[in-house]
Amino acid sequence: MLTARAGLSPDERLAVRAVATVLPFRTNSYVVENLIDWDAAPDDPIYRLVFPQPDMLPAGDVRRLADLLEGGAPQQQLRAAAHEVRMRLNPHPAGQLLLNAPSLHGRPLPGLQHKYPETVLFFPRQGQTCHAYCTYCFRWAQFVDEPELKMATDDVGTLVAYLAEHPEVTSVLITGGDPMIMGEAVLRRYIEPLLDPSLDHLESIRIGTKSLSYWPQRFVTDPDADATLRLFGEVVDSGRTLALMAHFSHPRELEPLLLDQAVRRITGTGAVIRTQAPLIRTINDDPAAWRTMWRTQVRMGMIPYYMFIERDTGPKDYFAVPLARAHEIFREAYRGTSGLCRTVRGPSMSATPGKVCVDGVAEVAGIKVFVLRMIQARDPQLVGTPFFARFDPAATWLTDLEPAFAPRFPYEPAPDVLPGFWPGEPDELMLPAI
Ligand code: SF4
Repeated sequence: MLTARAGLSPDERLAVRAVATVLPFRTNSYVVENLIDWDAAPDDPIYRLVFPQPDMLPAGDVRRLADLLEGGAPQQQLRAAAHEVRMRLNPHPAGQLLLNAPSLHGRPLPGLQHKYPETVLFFPRQGQTCHAYCTYCFRWAQFVDEPELKMATDDVGTLVAYLAEHPEVTSVLITGGDPMIMGEAVLRRYIEPLLDPSLDHLESIRIGTKSLSYWPQRFVTDPDADATLRLFGEVVDSGRTLALMAHFSHPRELEPLLLDQAVRRITGTGAVIRTQAPLIRTINDDPAAWRTMWRTQVRMGMIPYYMFIERDTGPKDYFAVPLARAHEIFREAYRGTSGLCRTVRGPSMSATPGKVCVDGVAEVAGIKVFVLRMIQARDPQLVGTPFFARFDPAATWLTDLEPAFAPRFPYEPAPDVLPGFWPGEPDELMLPAI
């Protein structure tokens, strides 16, 4: 058993099993044999990236689930206990199930998300798993066996119809899970219809993937590797950008020669690879790790794109890095890179109103503040808007912050009336709109 190979005691192994009843666990031979340093496990960052940690969930929950496992509780009882814990873990952050759900002629479209005007997210049914699962995964709800939590569709016809009615959409992000878990024939069924000349407003197709890290043979030696690359070439030949949004969490993932070959083959089709990852405590909360990743990625021909803040879902409390520290790490890493690496943005929160970047910490009029900026926004008028929040060294997410120099944040609606005044009363006092 691999947790025994990592040197865990029987109690710790039971706790890992307890955590894995709530959050998904999966690994593969490539990760186990090529990426994990077993001499350093269980502290090895790649081990921690894939294997659940005994203390990732509240101690009381872990103990309760461990007792059920140890006592041989029936599956139904275990499932109910796991479900109860999951419901406390904010399975769908940033209001994505309610606020981003599009419809076509009054019919809701499950498996599509439309948050920003120019980009539609598509969740193909067969792509809602990954080659291995990251312990910090913000999409964990896709992988637990709870259909009502899952976003997925195999109806590409509806996607095409929706795009035809939305000329403002210039980019489709095919996401998961990991769409590159799908074989070429299935992937083609989803991508080919998007190349129709009637969808000329579609400028780019993006594929969110961690396959370059967890299974690079997908692009080199897998039986359909060549056919997949031909499909990528067809997207490029259609006059659109094909961008692989590649997820790399640690510099070690960039070391295998097989990855180098995969990157060369993909970029050889004309596709581009942009890289991104969240900043995660105990896995990559170190400026040197990010500096090495960005420099190596550029050397290999990839484009650094985002450092994210761990989202407010799942085991976030365990992996979160405070915003103040996140900014320090970003800045220190960024300082040691050439201009070609500075395409990277962050640290950024994918929050309900949009993507909010922590640009810095400053003192203004004697008050210490975070300097924040909306790099993407549900309301397009807010894109690029800078704003301030009171400095809080412990804050880990946007909702932990209080506005500075303003009664509210720019994305918050102005209240119609001050508390204590009733609309329609003669002394009603309206606040000025901002
Ligand atoms: S690759 Fe992405 S979707 Fe898959 S487990 Fe990791 S974070 Fe989650």
